[in-house]
Amino acid sequence: MIWKCPNCNEPLQQDNRQLKCSNNHSFDIAKQGYTNLLLDNQKKSKNPGDNDEMLEARQRFLQAGFYDPLIKAIQPYIKPNHTIIDLGCGEGYYLRQLLTQEPDAKGYGIDIAKTGVKKAAQQSKALQPYIAYAVGSTYRAPVIDHSCDVAISIFAPFDEQDVQRILKDEGLLIRVGPATKHHQEIKEKLYQNAEEFKPAAIPEGFQITHQEELLYEIELSGKALTEDLIPMTPFHWQGSQEAKAALAALSSQKITVHFQVDVLSAVPKSV
Ligand SMILES: [Zn+2]
Repeated sequence: MIWKCPNCNEPLQQDNRQLKCSNNHSFDIAKQGYTNLLLDNQKKSKNPGDNDEMLEARQRFLQAGFYDPLIKAIQPYIKPNHTIIDLGCGEGYYLRQLLTQEPDAKGYGIDIAKTGVKKAAQQSKALQPYIAYAVGSTYRAPVIDHSCDVAISIFAPFDEQDVQRILKDEGLLIRVGPATKHHQEIKEKLYQNAEEFKPAAIPEGFQITHQEELLYEIELSGKALTEDLIPMTPFHWQGSQEAKAALAALSSQKITVHFQVDVLSAVPKSV
């Protein structure tokens, strides 16, 4: 197990239905199989993260397979006996798919939103104990130093120094974000002056091992677009209601998907 105590940083061990550290801090394992390792002082709100409606939208969209090319792009980096951490795992779709393809790896998912983690654990019962989920900070992950072979961040924020801390020496960070044309049709319809996404900078302390862009089109009904895809994106909070109603009325709409996949390794420390 790679989880550590968020109070004192000692490793956690399972003791019946609890995880405990050597200083006797204990955390209950919920019946769905996840553990809450988020301290009250790390919460910014009572229920931080995505809300239920957004999670359900995300789940419908992902389970329809629209983003599965992303799984194909990440899969080659997941080897047997690897320990994988998904930072900002949401309801665990990607981690579950990756582990199903490579059942000899171990997967850990972490997210600040309890509703997502709960769903993730519920849906991963068949993969337990090779997959485990915790509610926790993705900036100060409750994860033991140098315990992970691969850290994955798909459209999720992270702290680069913390990721360096949890990765093994030869470990990889796989970061996925929007490339220039991602969802351009939605932007064009919601904004007067739609700007392209700018590629994110390489995080400090990392170097590029491999870079890849995935560019393809998906076709959605107006309903799926406004009820499933848009609630997964920042567009959920933006754009006029009229523009969204016009999108909802479309019988079908082509949407460009453009991912930037960065496979990064830590820059070796100079001796
Ligand atoms: Zn402790």
